[in-house]
Order: sequence, then C-alpha cells, then structure tokens
Amino acid sequence: MPYVVTQSCCSDASCVLACPVNCIHPAPGDPDFATAEMLYIDPDGCVDCGACATACPVDAIKPHTLLSPAEEPFRALNAEYFAVFPHADRTPVAVVPPQRRLRERRPVRVAVVGAGPAGLYAADELLKHPELRVDVLDRLPTPHGLVRAGVAPDHQRTKQTERLLAQIEDQPGFGYLLGVEVGKDLSRAELDERYDAVIWTVGASADKPLRVPGEDLPGSLSATEVVGWYNGHPDHQDLAVDLGHERVVVVGNGNVALDVARVLTLDPERLRGTDIAGLPWAQLAQSRVREVVVLGRRGPAQAAFTLPELVGLVALAEEGLVDVVVEAGGADLPADTPVALEPGPDGTLRAVGTGETEVLDCGLVLRAVGYHGREVADLPYDPATGTVPSDAGRVEPGTYVAGWVKRGPTGFIGTNKSCAQETVSRLLDDLDAGLVTPPARDADDLGALLASRGVTVLDLADWRALDAEERRRGATSGRVRAKIVDREEMLRVAVEARRERVTRSRYSSRPKARSTR
Ligand code: NAP
Repeated sequence: MPYVVTQSCCSDASCVLACPVNCIHPAPGDPDFATAEMLYIDPDGCVDCGACATACPVDAIKPHTLLSPAEEPFRALNAEYFAVFPHADRTPVAVVPPQRRLRERRPVRVAVVGAGPAGLYAADELLKHPELRVDVLDRLPTPHGLVRAGVAPDHQRTKQTERLLAQIEDQPGFGYLLGVEVGKDLSRAELDERYDAVIWTVGASADKPLRVPGEDLPGSLSATEVVGWYNGHPDHQDLAVDLGHERVVVVGNGNVALDVARVLTLDPERLRGTDIAGLPWAQLAQSRVREVVVLGRRGPAQAAFTLPELVGLVALAEEGLVDVVVEAGGADLPADTPVALEPGPDGTLRAVGTGETEVLDCGLVLRAVGYHGREVADLPYDPATGTVPSDAGRVEPGTYVAGWVKRGPTGFIGTNKSCAQETVSRLLDDLDAGLVTPPARDADDLGALLASRGVTVLDLADWRALDAEERRRGATSGRVRAKIVDREEMLRVAVEARRERVTRSRYSSRPKARSTR
C-alpha cells in the first residue's frame, strides 16, 4: 500500500486533484467531502506516483514505508474506508474546474472582516475574479485566527496551513488592515459605504458556559481561554492557570478537550521547540499536574473528538509518554448501550442526569464544551446558536457571513473552504443580479481615517516583518517561532521594520554616486 493520509483533512483538495487515478476520497462532489474528518487513499487503487504527497499543503500524506509507529494505524484506517465505500469509478477528477465569470466587468471591492481561515478562504475565492480587490481586516495585529491561536502547539504539521494562507495573501488584489476592530475603531456603516460588499468571518470567540453553580469560582476556567493562553493570544496572557495541583478535570470530550489534556500532560520538553508562548511554557515546565480527567456526559461511542486525534493520543500512550485510561463503567454507562441517554425531541440522544454523584478532587476545572459566537457590530444575531442568521451565507445583498459565525463552531480548518465557496457564490449571484450597490466612498481613505483615531494599522508587509521577527527570535533558541504576545510590542516591531524598509528603499533607489576617478 503505497501512500497513506495521516491526519485531519485541510479540504484543500489539492491531493485529490493531483491524483491521476482518482483514488483519494471523499473527493469534491462526494456527499461527505468537506465534512469528513479526513481523506483516505485506496490502497488497491494507488499507483504510487507520489503526486498527492507533493500536492498536500500540510505534509499529511506519506508513503507507507515512511510511516512512524504513531502513524501506522492510519494505514488500516485508509484501507477500511474503501472496504465500506468502494468508490469504484476511477475517472480522474477534473483538474481545472470551469471558472465562473462575472457578467459585468466593473471593479469591485470587498472587505472581509476576520483574518482566520474562513476569511482567507473567502478572499481566495473572490480573487479568482480579476475585477475584485479584497481588504481583509482583523482586530489583532496578526492574521490566521485559530491556525495561530487555536491549533495545539504539538500539532505543527496542522499549522503548516499557514503556508497555504500565505499563498492566498500573495495574490494581486489582496490587502490587510490588521489591528482594526470593526464595531470599535470603525463602524459597520463606515465599512459598508466604502465597499461593494462585506463578508463577516469573525468566528466564535466566546466559550459555551456550563451554567452550573460555582462555574465562575477561581480554579474554573474555559478551555478555549487556556488554548489562547498557551498559544500566545494577546487577550489571554494574564489568565491565572493554576497548575499547582496533581489533577485537572476537563468537562466535555471534543477535540479541544483532547488538545488541552495533551498539552497539560506532555513532557514540556516535547513542546520546547514549538511555537508555544514563552511564559505558559515556563509555567508548564513547573507544573505539578499528573492527571487530566476528561469527562464525557455520554459514552465513548458518542465522544465528539475525531479519530485522527484519538490515534495521536494512543500513539503517545504507546510511546510511554502519557497513560491513557478509558473508563466507560464509572457511571455505569456501557459503551454501546448507554443507559442514561434519552432521545431528544429531534431524535438525537441526549444525556440525562442519573441522580448519582461523585466528587473528584482537583485543582483546576476546564470547561471544553464548545465555542459560542458573540454579537458583532450591529449584525443580526441568534443568541441560541451564537451565529448570524443567513441564507447560505447571504445576510442581505452586500452583507455576507462565512465560517463559524455562519454555521456555528463545528468542523475543521478545511471545512471553511467549502463554506467560503458557498458564501462567495451568493455574493457573485448578487453582483450578477445587480443587487449590490457600488460604494459611495473610496476605501483608500480608511488608513487616514483610522490614523486620525489613533489606530495603528498593519498591512501585509508589516505582518510579514512581524512573522520574520518571531521566526528569527525562535531560531536563536531552536524553536519554530517565539511568539510576540503583547499587542503594543507587535505594533512596535512592525512599525520599526516598516521604517527600516522605507529607509532601505530610499537608499537603494538613490542613483549611485559617480566615481571621481
Ligand atoms: P465540540 O466538538 O462541540 O465538543 C464539545 C463536547 O462537550 C462534546 O463532547 C459535548 O458532549 C460536550 N458537552 C457539551 N455540553 C456539555 C455539558 N453541559 N456537560 C458535559 N459535556 C458537555 O467542541 P470543541 O471540542 O470545542 O471543538 C469545536 C470544533 O473545533 C469541533 O468541530 C472540533 O472538531 C474542532 N477542533 C478540531 C481540532 C482538530 O482537528 N485537531 C482541534 C480543536 C478543535 P455532547 O456530544 O453530549 O453534546
């Protein structure tokens, strides 16, 4: 069996399109493409050409001979998928799908609010049209959303998605306005009057509360904050994470719960070379935590974490790096026939309290029961789902949403690609139908407007300088990057680099002094 997919899918589909024998599925057009937790390579169909591995932007595909022991289970997983879904048709997927073109070839300017994967995938879709220019705004001075501040530091291969995002940024017509909070530095109306359309891709930045007594006591935190803390998100650097006790309890058993459990239990040496934020790493190195209990309210069969994450955890256990103990019996819940589940009104199985209680001593409780979107600017908002209601991404002509603010906090990085494609397709429909009003003002005045309000706006060159500085600082201590976690320092570093660029360009464009000899 030549090539094997070894991690969650980035849904870029490059591998699928590169495959000359259509042996990677689910492919675009298959019902579960973009929602499947990973892609699979048919061992009997693969012709061992390696085109998929070359095309994969996150190095998730390997020849079976190079699988590490930790990746070995993926060989069987890839094969098992095709035992269930044979996908017998081996006609190669169209290499270049037909490109839609706008009816009217007028210049169009679109603002995308939120520079995470959903925002950048939306920009990518828009920039397939030469008439379109895209400005991507973010309240942070750094882009890439949860790829930077959510993906666990020991998942550096997943973080390679940043390479894909950088390719999107490099396209003509792309621009950044980083460090700008719409709703605070700039109103929604001020944005609307400067752009033909605005796509909101602001994600789901809050966590779901448990709504149990004591939830706000010291020692009870949200896992999403802890993720932000160790990933260097400037909003969470002051978080008091008490690692002075032996046991931590994480409530919820999704991928965030597993990420946090791994980071809290791994030998800090395994994290030293990653992009984990400096002070949290130092704190983890001093941690007294020896056990993390992940509490699921339903049985193992209903756990929300995905298979690639479980395989990764089991691999760590097999290496002897952590002990993993699964207790399905603690609350008398057999894995296949959970006795404390009841069908809800919509037919799904819901957990109900059994009346039995148990006390677990611990120093820290982390709720990892999902993210929740906040209300943004003056957009419509559904508090129950934490989303902006839309018709497949269209809020109204000229206003659109994509990513978690549209569909809720589910899916993987790659899910945002198909989500953004759907939204952009609505926007193009509205442009073609003449429903989008051209802007009343020129967006080029935004820089001056924001400067007059004391906002330092960073552009793509500034971000690249900041990125280079973080990598440079990291390299001095053998790390992928040393994240700058303070907003003011980010701005200082970027502005200083900008001054140097200006000075350099002044001298390099000056005519060379003539030799007097
Ligand atoms: P999630 O996948 O929605 O999981 C939430 C978990 O919390 C579920 O197990 C849920 O149980 C449980 N839960 C909810 N309310 C509860 C309560 N009151 N008491 C006890 N348990 C409760 O959320 P997430 O882990 O935050 O992940 C968000 C999204 O990001 C997911 O799509 C995830 O796959 C993705 N993500 C992916 C990765 C990765 O690919 N490596 C990493 C991180 C996050 P029920 O099932 O019973 O509701």
